[in-house]
Amino acid sequence: MMVDLLDKHRSVLDRVQRMTAMGFNGLGVTNDQMISPTRAVVGNREIILAGTNNYMGITFDPRCIAAGKKALDEFGTGTTGSRIANGSFAMHVELERELAGFLKLQHCIVFTTGYQANLGMLSGLAGPQDTIFLDADSHSSIYDGCTLSGAKLVRFRHNDAADLDKRLGRAGNDGGGKLVVLEGIYSMLGDRAPLADFVALKKRHQFQLCVDDAHSFGVLGPHGRGLGDEVGLESEVDFVIGTFSKSIGAIGGFGASNHPLFDTLRYAMRPYMFTASASPSSVATSIAALKVLQEEPERRARIWANSERLYTGLKALGLDMGCDTVSPVIAVKMPDEVTTVIKWDALFKAGVYVNMAVPPGTPNRLCLLRCSVSAAHTNEEIDRIIAVFKDAVVN
Ligand code: PMP
Repeated sequence: MMVDLLDKHRSVLDRVQRMTAMGFNGLGVTNDQMISPTRAVVGNREIILAGTNNYMGITFDPRCIAAGKKALDEFGTGTTGSRIANGSFAMHVELERELAGFLKLQHCIVFTTGYQANLGMLSGLAGPQDTIFLDADSHSSIYDGCTLSGAKLVRFRHNDAADLDKRLGRAGNDGGGKLVVLEGIYSMLGDRAPLADFVALKKRHQFQLCVDDAHSFGVLGPHGRGLGDEVGLESEVDFVIGTFSKSIGAIGGFGASNHPLFDTLRYAMRPYMFTASASPSSVATSIAALKVLQEEPERRARIWANSERLYTGLKALGLDMGCDTVSPVIAVKMPDEVTTVIKWDALFKAGVYVNMAVPPGTPNRLCLLRCSVSAAHTNEEIDRIIAVFKDAVVN
């Protein structure tokens, strides 16, 4: 008898149908019109966007839009090939140079998406003879990068340097390399890795350290360079990974390092070699956004003020917060999936869009209403989000 390959997904379909029956249409939301970085029209209703990762609110910046249009005119709509097969476009090289300069690192490689940056970097750095130690709360792209690498995997308890210490000790010396992977700001709960605790382990164990700053690039640190910048430990981070889909407001990703052999990864990373390079307009937009980010540090100040305002407001409602530190990722814990669906829908109907995050995409099988704050949110919008949470979630 033939096994229908799609049969295994029937339980997912059942789950989606159950949610839809409860009124949840989050999987089918279409932004018919974007009014601004924080407002969209869905159907015939205007909603406040509170889940977009548009941290710097830069998606409608006229300088970025102009750069994207110019690149379209001069270089066309797409690159139609990989950089290994077809060569780079001038803007790929420029973006890598600009990013390396911004990060004060010698080498930078740009990828087509942030997801591919994690796939490429982790599978390029580690092979079957090596071991990757990854935080249990790591983003799926980190898990997938580990799988692609074929490396041995050791998961340690979230943000628990003592647990990693124990596991590094147990692993001993098997002749392979060791890579420890952390995130700057964790994507679901919004807490940050205690970098100093992990760096301290370098005195006792031999390993190289990689930080995925997807949610912290542009956001953390006096210069916006990420977690290492915030705690003054950039020189201890061997490899930095990031994305252009959040603070940069475009699409793409990068890996960066001071390692003298870093550029050889270009010939070892399948997710870099066997996919078309990022489109000219997206890369040009990213270059322009990186400039704006540096020229306008007030955006960073604004996002922190907004994050503080939303976090404090939601906490004051008595909601169960995802973590006890403030960051632009602000999650509210829900007791179960049914409640999450009902509350998400009530928020949406009242004009506020947040992310509904449920297992398996969440740590510890948590159900979350996840907000992400933008520098472009006005105080009125933040207050409106809090008021709608009060009506739709608390009451
Ligand atoms: N790393 C982390 C921690 C993420 O949260 C994400 C996406 N949310 C990615 C990588 C992938 O980035 P992108 O969506 O730009 O591909």
